[in-house]
Amino acid sequence: MTAKVLIVEDEAPLAELLRYNLEAAGFAVRHAGTGEEAELMMAEERPDLIVLDWMLPSVSGVELCRRLRARPVTRAIPILMLTARGEESDRIRGLSTGADDYVVKPFSLPELMARVRAILRRAAPERLADVLRAAEIELDRASHRVTRAGREVRLGPTEFRLLEFMMESPGRVLSREQLLDGVWGRDAEIDERTVDVHIGRLRKALVRGKERDPIRTVRGAGYAFGERRPA
Ligand code: CA
Repeated sequence: MTAKVLIVEDEAPLAELLRYNLEAAGFAVRHAGTGEEAELMMAEERPDLIVLDWMLPSVSGVELCRRLRARPVTRAIPILMLTARGEESDRIRGLSTGADDYVVKPFSLPELMARVRAILRRAAPERLADVLRAAEIELDRASHRVTRAGREVRLGPTEFRLLEFMMESPGRVLSREQLLDGVWGRDAEIDERTVDVHIGRLRKALVRGKERDPIRTVRGAGYAFGERRPA
């Protein structure tokens, strides 16, 4: 089942960028440029997640969020808020608006995608693809099993999450900070070297004999899973 994401954002280039990346990740995407338009679209079809910009013309993102939370039909739809750096992000930190999570502009796409998936994993796990496949590795979220060319790979829970997170953005270089944020969470008090330790364990579990290492170390940048992304 494909998860439906509604983007509510008046900046067209940003909305396009979000649409492109969410569609590439397998989501069905609709876009509204205003709060009013978003409400009309929601009346037609209930989205599984709303990516909502804080600053919108006329009805603001915050006001729209309040309206949605006040109505029984829309109350449970998860909302990821996009905010600008500054006062707003402090206020939203208190979750006074009822948003499920937020990202501060300018945000990195892997961070945004990780938050979208984390929210859906909690709210609508059946909407996420169960099996991720790349570089002869198969990861099944439902059964928590990983195989490489049919052989079972045994992973601890952290290595499983790490592999899952990397396989969600195949080919993309992820910094240690992005990996920490995506796997351990924004507030985890963990040293970046911890990432290297777990990458080491993951590699050891994935690679047997002369098999190719599916994880690339990118000096000074981080790690990537699978083939280099074509530019
Ligand atoms: Ca805006």
